[in-house]
Amino acid sequence: MTQVPRVECDKLCPEWPCEQPEEFRHVWVVAEVTRNGIHEASLQMLTPARKIAEKLGNKVIGVLIGYNVAGYAEDFIKHGADEVIVVDQEELESYDPYVYGQVVVDLAKKYKPEVILVAGTMRGREMAPYIANTLRAGITADCTDFDVDEKERDVLLIRPPFAAIMLAYIRTPFRRPQIGTARPAVFPTPPRDEGRKGEVIYEKVKTLKPRTTILSRTILEKRDVPIEKAQIIVSGGKGVGGPEGFKILARLADILGGVVGGSKKAADAGWIPHERQVGQTGKAVKPVLYIAAGISGAGHHMIGVREAGRIVAINIDPEARIFKQADYGVVGDYKEIILALIDELERLKKQGPEALKELLGEESRE
Ligand SMILES: Cc1cc2nc3c(=O)[nH]c(=O)nc-3n(C[C@H](O)[C@H](O)[C@H](O)COP(=O)(O)OP(=O)(O)OC[C@H]3O[C@@H](n4cnc5c(N)ncnc54)[C@H](O)[C@@H]3O)c2cc1C
Repeated sequence: MTQVPRVECDKLCPEWPCEQPEEFRHVWVVAEVTRNGIHEASLQMLTPARKIAEKLGNKVIGVLIGYNVAGYAEDFIKHGADEVIVVDQEELESYDPYVYGQVVVDLAKKYKPEVILVAGTMRGREMAPYIANTLRAGITADCTDFDVDEKERDVLLIRPPFAAIMLAYIRTPFRRPQIGTARPAVFPTPPRDEGRKGEVIYEKVKTLKPRTTILSRTILEKRDVPIEKAQIIVSGGKGVGGPEGFKILARLADILGGVVGGSKKAADAGWIPHERQVGQTGKAVKPVLYIAAGISGAGHHMIGVREAGRIVAINIDPEARIFKQADYGVVGDYKEIILALIDELERLKKQGPEALKELLGEESRE
């Protein structure tokens, strides 16, 4: 194993406890548990966790916190964790960022993980900074990749900086654990392997008093498929010109069995809800087909579609940047092209579902 240089604590932050990076081992993935089990985004974090762990010669350890959650430990192992630490206590039935965050902090003080990865869900984005701040560790949010400087044992937390023309490789050489989040769908979910076995460690912790009180609970049922789960997305940008244009995109999405998305400019203008924004500060999506109309193809947007199967770009400007990344490009006014496409699809639909299926291909409808 590589010898990590010793940190001269007194020269860094003398008010913080002195900790040597060499005392820390293993890669943790802190899971979010939903009504249906481990959140898909937490399972996805096992993909970079395995990559980092293999380069560091470490184990991947899942951390499960909540009430009646112990049964999900096996799912974590089958998707790639080597071990799982479970804290299953009644007082953890309701999520509270402060209470849950402190459980992770207490476990981290005991076990000293070298790396902690958290899915960048609403909860993860709330809890991970609390963990980092309380542990006096660094954190990089919204990573799009991770790598390792094997000599220094530093994790490289990779993400686009604000200008997004380049990638920033961020490291925290003197503090451990190294903490990073990544948005849902940035990484694939590792396949489930029924043969995988691993140890489950049960911990009991003293929990804090929540800072919030839950008065009532309402489960909101969403009518539409969340954009990050959609197989077909018809997305619009500033070039769509306004809400009327988005109605045309919605007609195409309906025929294709997809959903509407858009760029930040479209969301900021109020043409689509922010939860339908695709990109660095929006959602990362992985449809089999992504139709981008009137979108220029800025890096901030394209980072959200890097897992898309096929990208079809429609833009009036033949020099638009999106054509460099699209699989198919159509130069022209989006309205003309999409209305013509709708006419053609409706004509095919009248011939029967088989004709439409043939055009779209079976895979895009699965
Ligand atoms: C920190 C940060 C985070 C960001 N996060 C995101 C993010 O998550 N998602 C995101 O999308 N952006 C994000 N942005 C903004 C991003 O940099 C771009 O400004 C934005 O993506 C551009 O949106 P657009 O393509 O809709 O608009 P524009 O760049 O204005 O492009 C409009 C396009 O429409 C074309 N057009 C015009 N008329 C027509 C027509 N009739 N038919 C066809 N094409 C037409 C034009 O040729 C042009 O290419 C972020 C920026 C920053 C600084």
